[in-house]
Amino acid sequence: MTTNASATYRIAGMDCAECARAIENGVARLDGVRECRINFGAALLQVQGTASRSAVERRVHELGYAVVDETAQPAAPSSSLRSAWAARLSERGVSGFVRFLLARSETTWAALGALLIVPGVLFGELWPLVSGRFITSPLLDVLSIAALIAAGWPIVRSAWRTLRINRTVNINGLMTIAAAGAMVIGAYTEAGLVMVLFAIGEALEAFTMDRARVALRELMQFAPAQATVLRACVDCREHIGQGGYTGGPCPFCGVHEVTLPVNEVLVGEVVLVKTGERIPVDGVVCSGGGFVDQAPITGESAPIEKSVAAEVFAGTVNLDGVLELTVTRRAADTLLQRIVRLVEESQARKAPSERFVDRFARMYTPAVTIGAVLVALLPPLLFGAPFLGEQGWLYRALELLVVACPCALVVATPASVVSAIAAAARQGVLVKGGAAIEALSRVRAIAFDKTGTLTRGEPRVALLRGVVCAHILDARCVACDDVLALACALERRSSHPLARAVVAAAHERGLDRMYEAAEDVQTVPGRGVRGMVGGRHVIVGSPAFVGSEDVRADVGESVIEVVVEGRRIGRMEMVEALRPEAANALAALRGCGVVETMMLTGDMSTAAERIGRAAGVDVIYAELLPEQKEVRVRELVERYGAVAMVGDGVNDAPALAAATVGIAMGAGSAQAMETADVTLMGNDLTKLPFVLRLSRAAMRTVRVGIGFAIAVKVVVLLLVLSGLGSLWMAVAADVGAALAVTLAGMQLLRVAPKAAGV
Ligand code: ADP
Ligand code: MG
Repeated sequence: MTTNASATYRIAGMDCAECARAIENGVARLDGVRECRINFGAALLQVQGTASRSAVERRVHELGYAVVDETAQPAAPSSSLRSAWAARLSERGVSGFVRFLLARSETTWAALGALLIVPGVLFGELWPLVSGRFITSPLLDVLSIAALIAAGWPIVRSAWRTLRINRTVNINGLMTIAAAGAMVIGAYTEAGLVMVLFAIGEALEAFTMDRARVALRELMQFAPAQATVLRACVDCREHIGQGGYTGGPCPFCGVHEVTLPVNEVLVGEVVLVKTGERIPVDGVVCSGGGFVDQAPITGESAPIEKSVAAEVFAGTVNLDGVLELTVTRRAADTLLQRIVRLVEESQARKAPSERFVDRFARMYTPAVTIGAVLVALLPPLLFGAPFLGEQGWLYRALELLVVACPCALVVATPASVVSAIAAAARQGVLVKGGAAIEALSRVRAIAFDKTGTLTRGEPRVALLRGVVCAHILDARCVACDDVLALACALERRSSHPLARAVVAAAHERGLDRMYEAAEDVQTVPGRGVRGMVGGRHVIVGSPAFVGSEDVRADVGESVIEVVVEGRRIGRMEMVEALRPEAANALAALRGCGVVETMMLTGDMSTAAERIGRAAGVDVIYAELLPEQKEVRVRELVERYGAVAMVGDGVNDAPALAAATVGIAMGAGSAQAMETADVTLMGNDLTKLPFVLRLSRAAMRTVRVGIGFAIAVKVVVLLLVLSGLGSLWMAVAADVGAALAVTLAGMQLLRVAPKAAGV
């Protein structure tokens, strides 16, 4: 099969970001590959071009990795003995790791190598240290060489193929040279130990990294694999031929419950979800109702009531009641699927610090390799120092090669970023990649949109008055009804929250069909709408938009005016409820390094003041057009360095883009979710302090991890140069540091919102 489009492959066995690049380079060299990118965090390879799937898979395999079939069940280990063993062991901890080792032949050989090397280490390396006496025995040497072969052959093979295909020496290559050098000196146990430690260390890293990736994909497990579909019985075998029935929908059977794999369910079909079941697809309730736990998607713990016409999402739980849903999306396109894909794919957007480390690593390895050659040759040539032998300069150069592995450096960022993103996703916060995490960690000021962000975005018409009326509040008159009916005719064409409020109010009073929907409608973002209603030119919008001076609101927060043929005929006052958690969330931001909060709104300043003060924002900017919001955000970025903008993403898009971090409310459109760096799926502002703390913790972990890795390298380097080091010590330090850094990153999975929800 050839494809010209882009294809995505999930790779197994990737343990280090540096090695991952070998895959990228190797696949890029295939014929027909136009572009190829590896996403280490999510273990995804994206290939564009005409290369066939099998060619890509073969190349990946050649380089020592495997492509996992996304649709298949979890792969069973190939050999039956191994699978029998593996099946007994659980997923986590030591037994989980043993299971991981047994799942692939390379790692199984490494485990065998680890057993074979034990006598050599005990009697050849440790016993002399304790007793001062050396034990030499051909048996020990044979065992150590066997260990070297068992653990080392996959490493040597990968090194050779990378050299042949990519024309570069990768870390496997460095290890191969080191082990070969040790063999030349006659240090067989050392040589074996280098391979064993390296192979086991890499496997352990891959295992840990996989666990972090699983946490990221954990969301997916929320989607049931099967759905109960209500289908008419078609071509019923039982009843065919009876009562003139010849085929098609059976008139005797009615609707059947059929259990199907979710990806066979079609849009428009009706799915039955019983009490306590997970909803298998995205849909709209067409019958029944009840409470649904949406935590897998929004992170919010309170159940949401769903009745007919409500939207429900795959992965959420039907707590009580029985729901019948009309399917709105195929299983591959559900919100849950899109979220997982979005988060995984955005992994490729690397944090600036990560790009730096990558560049650094690319120069670091060749530099140390050259250094190693010089160390091996110069002292013997210039000063007649020993070349071979236990502490000869060849040996020290080999140690130096091992020190050259940049694994711990390059794994620090992805390990932390993947874990932080997974921890955020568990709380219903989607963070797109390392760049977003890094930007979040620097945020010093946060700007909020008003409507739909600080408020619930469900305003209500609180007062309606025609200019020719003099009646008391709430009384109805023909003139007022006409104001509302005209406004409604126009607002039916708008999706603004205020427009929805106007339409709802008109509907309540039975005025929504008085006029045909407006024609030639023009929406002016941040100001209002205008158009033709029944041949008359009507404008609905802010007082500033219609050129009116009188903007005092009596009972509501904001005012919109209605103008017909250039004449004001009435006004409406709107009230909006603040989100209940807004004030708490803003107060909690102070403790997270945010020095100032502000509100940006297109609404008039009196309304802005009222909402802004209730929420507790520091600065209020009102009467801003969408493009002025953007200008304000740019100014703030200049003043504070890093600024987050939180908006509902509809008319805030330019401001979201101008901010260092754009944060969208999940209630906004799917498009908003795709443009923002961060999405609060549950529309819960208390998740802001949480995600700020999380991102700061993540960047701290990255910095400490990189610092630690460098420190370890420097110490080992000094030991090596002073002749106190040993090869296996260098390997142990390298894989140990990489592992420590990965484990530290995984600790971020534990970060959760503080008690009281903040
Ligand atoms: P915010 O910044 O609070 O999200 P907008 O920028 O969307 O508000 O709108 C600013 C003001 O413009 C509103 O307060 C309202 O007066 C007016 N406006 C915008 N769209 C409409 C509309 N569809 N109908 C009536 N008024 C509107
Ligand atoms: Mg808004």
